[in-house]
Amino acid sequence: AAKADGRRTRRLFEPAMDAALQARRALERDLRAAIAAEALEVHYQPLVDARTLAVTGCEALLRWRHPERGFVSPADFIPVAEETGLIASLGEWVLARACREAAGWPRPVRVAVNLSPVQFRAPDLVGTVARALTESGLDPARLELEITEQVMLEESAANIAVLHRLRGLGVRIAIDDFGTGYASLSYLRAFPFDKIKIDRSFTAALGQEAAALAVVQAVIGLGASLGTTTVAEGVETEAQLAVLRRSGCDEVQGFLFSRPVPAADLRALVAAPAVPWLAAA
Ligand code: C2E
Ligand code: MG
Ligand code: MG
Ligand code: MG
Repeated sequence: AAKADGRRTRRLFEPAMDAALQARRALERDLRAAIAAEALEVHYQPLVDARTLAVTGCEALLRWRHPERGFVSPADFIPVAEETGLIASLGEWVLARACREAAGWPRPVRVAVNLSPVQFRAPDLVGTVARALTESGLDPARLELEITEQVMLEESAANIAVLHRLRGLGVRIAIDDFGTGYASLSYLRAFPFDKIKIDRSFTAALGQEAAALAVVQAVIGLGASLGTTTVAEGVETEAQLAVLRRSGCDEVQGFLFSRPVPAADLRALVAAPAVPWLAAA
């Protein structure tokens, strides 16, 4: 009977829905194969001190070169990895890889690794992070974990405890894409964190909407009062950089300084005293 019901339900799906499901399953299968074949790589994008333009750290960003589809964006495959549980092994792999590579950089700048809210549901996140640090020999103070406001909304009591334990290892916590989630300001009082990353949608609107400048300046002021570092994401123009500097933003990140680059190309960026072509700005 269950089988017949299943068949009847299935016929109710629109063909388009079937196609979407099939595409998703194909993506899942290919992603599993990619993990097994180590066809994924980590690229890095520098974070820069807003005043000196020295590289202060680099964000690890997953890249997948699909044999037929070419480059698949993490924005497309991370959600599939989250829904299928693959994010656990994927997240562990990125963490280990990023720590190992950062341990060999020419200067001891920080490495930032994105964590999915789903990784917080695994019982051993703290153990996974501790292992990545021990196995790489990376100074824990050089590791920054980027979380989203989603982590504050789900299981908040349990997640606060996990964040305290992570900080107990000596790592730093950054709130990513700040201002785009649904977290209220009261979460900022309850959650331990070291850095606020202002979402790039606000940076993009600087110079176009007066309200964007007001929001960015308010967040920078909030960050300063809370004793945290503020970063603006998605800085693409010198005009945006100028406004952010005037507003007292601590760090900047974006295509103006560098796109995410493969590990081999990163070394020269990290070794340089400041972003070369902007150093005189
Ligand atoms: P995110 O953590 O907010 O990362 C910043 C994204 O903005 C990156 O996209 C980066 O390439 C892009 N970006 C940087 N500067 C600029 C700029 O000036 N202009 C514009 N238009 N974009 C800029 P990417 O690499 O495609 O990653 C997208 C998202 O996928 C990330 O957003 C993050 O949420 C997720 N992601 C990437 N790697 C991982 C990972 O290893 N684990 C998890 N859980 N998520 C990841
Ligand atoms: Mg991030
Ligand atoms: Mg971000
Ligand atoms: Mg963002």
